Amino acid sequence: MRKKLVAGNWKMNLANLFELSPNEDVDVILFVPFTHIGVNRHLKEGGFNLGAQNFYPAESGAFTGEISASMIKDAGASYVLIGHSERRAIFGETNEFINEKVKFALKEDLIPIFCVGETLEEREKNITFEVISEQIKIGFKEVSEEDAKKVIIAYEPVWAIGTGKTATSEQAEEVCLQLRKLISELYSKEASETVRILYGGSVNMKNAKELFSMPNIDGGLVGGASLTAEFSEVIKGAAK
Ligand code: PEP
Repeated sequence: MRKKLVAGNWKMNLANLFELSPNEDVDVILFVPFTHIGVNRHLKEGGFNLGAQNFYPAESGAFTGEISASMIKDAGASYVLIGHSERRAIFGETNEFINEKVKFALKEDLIPIFCVGETLEEREKNITFEVISEQIKIGFKEVSEEDAKKVIIAYEPVWAIGTGKTATSEQAEEVCLQLRKLISELYSKEASETVRILYGGSVNMKNAKELFSMPNIDGGLVGGASLTAEFSEVIKGAAK
């Protein structure tokens, strides 16, 4: 049985967490800006997990402006976002670089939330699965089965991120099922049944329950709705 997981991606924003309370059915991860990981360390005692939105895959060195996996861990985070569409589109991160980050994060004991997803143009051309399949195959290159089982995959159609245009639960389930089948082909049935697969893209308190009740959707990666008290309602949408 995979435990449900809801992750909030604050991006370059701050949020008010006063309304947030943990729920024993749901793992919650807060991807806060770097400077707020240490500040929010106490949330771990309150039953929440902390994550970083990015890192650079090297131990140390001349990488001005970057932050390493061990610095993130020292600050108190255990998870990291990799392959988010904003990093792919705005910062030019390729599938190959994302693979480097996945491997490096796992080596350093940081758990990746590995994001994949197609653009609107790719969906309209009917190549959603080809695109996602390539992102997964390259992203997991040289990752052992033992490590692959630790990775959390987030299916985030680019056209649904920050647009208010959510994928229907059927559209999201269809891709998440394909992703699970792909993990089974690349590794094993056991790996495919272990890996948690999230949906992300304009999740809110109204659509969370229906999306998270689909058999292959184990929770969500939430941007806008993780910044306000609405996030509590989204978390409840993942509870039994
Ligand atoms: C995201 O940033 O990963 C995301 C899904 O954002 P939003 O929920 O705002 O669409």
